[in-house]
Formats: sequence, C-alpha cells, structure tokens
Amino acid sequence: MPKPTSKPSAASRKRPSVRALRGTVFVTRQVHFNAAHRLHNPTKSARWNAEKYGLCNNPRWHGHNYVLEVTVAGEPDPETGYLFDLGELKHLLEERIVKPCDHRNLNEEVPFLRDVIPSTENLVIAFWQELEPRIPRGRLHSIKLYETPRNYAEYRGPNPAL
Ligand SMILES: [Zn+2]
Repeated sequence: MPKPTSKPSAASRKRPSVRALRGTVFVTRQVHFNAAHRLHNPTKSARWNAEKYGLCNNPRWHGHNYVLEVTVAGEPDPETGYLFDLGELKHLLEERIVKPCDHRNLNEEVPFLRDVIPSTENLVIAFWQELEPRIPRGRLHSIKLYETPRNYAEYRGPNPAL
C-alpha cells in the first residue's frame, strides 16, 4: 500500500474551475401593489358602461390588492450561475411598476396608463411595454397579474411562442 503523503495531490493542484451548465431557465419575481380603478369607456354611454362593467363601473372607484409576477427567460451566466441579479429585477419592478401604481388611481395618476381602460388584460400589456426594453439580461417571457386570488391575466408579448 502506498504511504499517505502530505504532498498535495495532482487534482488539488489543478487550477480551480467552474462547469457552466447550459439551458434556458425561467426566473420569476413577484411584487404586490394596491390600487384603485374604474372600468369605464368614456366614448360610450353611461348605460353601455353600466351594462358592460356592472359594479366595476362604480364612479366612486374600487380597489384591488394586485399581485404581479414577472418571468424572465435565459441561460445562466457562466461566471455567476445567475440568469441575472434578482436585485436588479426587483429594483426595475419597484421603479417602473410599484412606485407609479401603488396606492394610486390607475385611471388618473399613472402616466403610462393614460387613456387606457385599466382592465387586467390591458394592464399586463402596458406593464410589458414598460418593462421589456429594460430587462437587464435574458428576455421577458411573461407577465401575470392577479386582480384577485382567482382571476389573473397573463401576457407573453406581441409574438408569443405557441
Ligand atoms: Zn376592478
């Protein structure tokens, strides 16, 4: 049997290395905001609006506790193992969505929603347009917005893969 030796083995003298794994990963960040809105089409009559939207057309507004999930797709950076720094995405969502929308009236106070009927469907498209050009790495894959725990809309961009 060879005697144990105190010399470092060939393996431990090797330069340290990392093995990059390839593959598309989907990373999601969730944020919350509370906001008021009213579903109302100002080009239509009061009666049309009342019939289409019911309670959601209340001229005195109503509110939701919105939950937003933003998913970015891409390959992990070989140096970090991250798709991107989650802190960067958190900052982007805070600046672009939460700050302008939280405790606001979506019909009247959010510049990028001007003249948009703030349905969940329209909100996911508007949020996509705000976020997509600013994603630090990878590509924006989907935006899900929960208006209630049971109702949500999802948007995967103008040309979603089928
Ligand atoms: Zn509503």
